Amino acid sequence: MTDRAAGKGCRGTDGTRFNFTRRQLLKGALGIASSAGLAGLSGLSYAAALTKEERDKMTPDEVLVSLQAGNQRFRTGKMEDHDFLAQKRASARGQYPAAAIVSCIDSRTPAEILLDQGLGEVFNARVAGNICNDDILGSLEFACAAAGSKAILVMGHTSCGAVKGAIDGVELGNLTGLLNHIEPAIEATEYEGDRSSKNAEFVNMVAITNVRRAVDDIRQRSQVLSEMEKEGKIKIAGALYHLDDGRLEMLG
Ligand SMILES: [Zn+2]
Repeated sequence: MTDRAAGKGCRGTDGTRFNFTRRQLLKGALGIASSAGLAGLSGLSYAAALTKEERDKMTPDEVLVSLQAGNQRFRTGKMEDHDFLAQKRASARGQYPAAAIVSCIDSRTPAEILLDQGLGEVFNARVAGNICNDDILGSLEFACAAAGSKAILVMGHTSCGAVKGAIDGVELGNLTGLLNHIEPAIEATEYEGDRSSKNAEFVNMVAITNVRRAVDDIRQRSQVLSEMEKEGKIKIAGALYHLDDGRLEMLG
């Protein structure tokens, strides 16, 4: 048992409450995040950032489930009472994020808020249309191979402006090249109806294809990450965030 787990060496009195919260979170994660089980977390202080020991003992599946549990808290208005100043103090000299997320720059999709995560708990690479270019792949390799994260989540979202722009063939400075990364997802999306950006159903289907392609890109273009996944050290997953009801839909 670590000093922190024993309630020693924590900053202030919040450590005890943190331990309870984290234990409950893990319990909730292992128990597939029933909303009833997680309801008990609301109102508790979430004082410190993840420690190395806490992060390292989680499996990749548990990390992904904990992100889903965080989204469940967010969408039901039962977010944890994050003490960001305490988390800042706890993480200033080191960070042990459990997950690396690739998400869109859309102002409505900040992953840390949507997944109810605190400071020092997730890496988040944000780029329009959540595409995976070489620099994003390098960032993910840093997150997992160098910094020890256990899971990668590519998170697209409904009504994505970048996806609409790609469908419309928008050309604008450097944005043109970025949207070219999304273009193959349009062609790969089988849809018989109106294939325009005005059709929300088609836009969201392309967004899903785009997420799946990004997941494939990570596996095919990063030998580092694909080997880590084959060895069971990490898991790579995709999801679609729904702007209307705040739901994170995992994509199998
Ligand atoms: Zn977007």
